[in-house]
Amino acid sequence: MIKIEHLQKSFHNLQVLKDVNLSIEKGEVISIIGPSGTGKSTLLRCMNLLERPTGGKITVFGEDILAPKMDITGLRRRMGMVFQNFNLFNHLSVLDNLCIAQQDILKRPREQAEERAMELLKMVGLAEKAQTMPSQLSGGQKQRVAIARALAMDPEVLLFDEPTSALDPTMVGEVLGVMRELAKMGLTMVIVTHEMDFARHVSTRVVYMDQGVVYEDGTPEQIFEHPQRERTRMFIHRVRHFQFSIENSQFDFYKMWEDLDRFTHRHLFDAKEIHDILHLVEESLQVVPLDRGAELILSYSEKTYDKALEILLPADTPSVLQAAHGDGISFSILEGLCSSMTEGLVDTFDGKRFRLLFELKRA
Ligand code: ADP
Ligand code: MG
Repeated sequence: MIKIEHLQKSFHNLQVLKDVNLSIEKGEVISIIGPSGTGKSTLLRCMNLLERPTGGKITVFGEDILAPKMDITGLRRRMGMVFQNFNLFNHLSVLDNLCIAQQDILKRPREQAEERAMELLKMVGLAEKAQTMPSQLSGGQKQRVAIARALAMDPEVLLFDEPTSALDPTMVGEVLGVMRELAKMGLTMVIVTHEMDFARHVSTRVVYMDQGVVYEDGTPEQIFEHPQRERTRMFIHRVRHFQFSIENSQFDFYKMWEDLDRFTHRHLFDAKEIHDILHLVEESLQVVPLDRGAELILSYSEKTYDKALEILLPADTPSVLQAAHGDGISFSILEGLCSSMTEGLVDTFDGKRFRLLFELKRA
């Protein structure tokens, strides 16, 4: 369906895509993951000619889309795109948002356009919002409208550029739910995402992009369980762990809290687990000396769901647990939350550290 060969894209002297090669078959659901700034959006935008590649070849539905006489409107009709920021027409009702391109581009009569629009709104759970203006909708609802609008063109493939990253964490699920349904229906989709759980369980193939190339690709199982290359391994490891560096006791507490909240929601921890984790972080920071910096690492096993908080401190830190033991309330709360608490010296990739390890009790 789509074949990308030796694709290059530079902005002035910044080469973003160096040599991207990727083939996409009908019915595949491809998640593109990778660090930010590696050109994932640029790749999607080249595919439907929102950006003009500076080298290489893209063939879509058997046609060379870089050929001079390419019908760009036709291409975008067959290959829809859903953006991070919805891009709805804010001066039009939900229904009109879904009808306008059907009427203008597909030349559907209004009545038929409305019928199709209502069908799609029903599918994304928003039939009752047909007459509503976009400004009255939540972010999750806006994104579902945007998906319905893209589907109204009867596209053969849909591209999604981080469709949930502008959403409040509580609304991510409703959008991913719709996308999961589309995947089940066999729609071909290419999704740039940071939702690792979605990438792991819904896509048929995961493409890891890094350094301007497709660095590694494979089944979700291959990429998440047995990545072959070092950078892929590091990335997968990092997204599965929450990590926060504390410089000293003046650190930005709100930033840490926000990051931690996003991490726990992204990994679909349940409310009780989130509560316990936040509690654990809060109380552990009461007993740990932060004046010389600390590295917080929250990790979990996808298989057993066991969660643990590691805190790395300078190697010459004296025993924290002993000091905390006599010290009352935080320590007893930690004892209540954890199945084990240990401390000691460990080797890390940049030298020896004093490590505290708190293992959370099973929910
Ligand atoms: P990703 O989606 O993986 O985060 P992007 O494709 O958005 O990465 O961007 C890759 C790089 O290209 C970034 O360094 C970004 O600043 C740069 N870039 C993207 N679009 C433009 C543009 N229109 N003009 C100049 N630089 C751009
Ligand atoms: Mg991007």
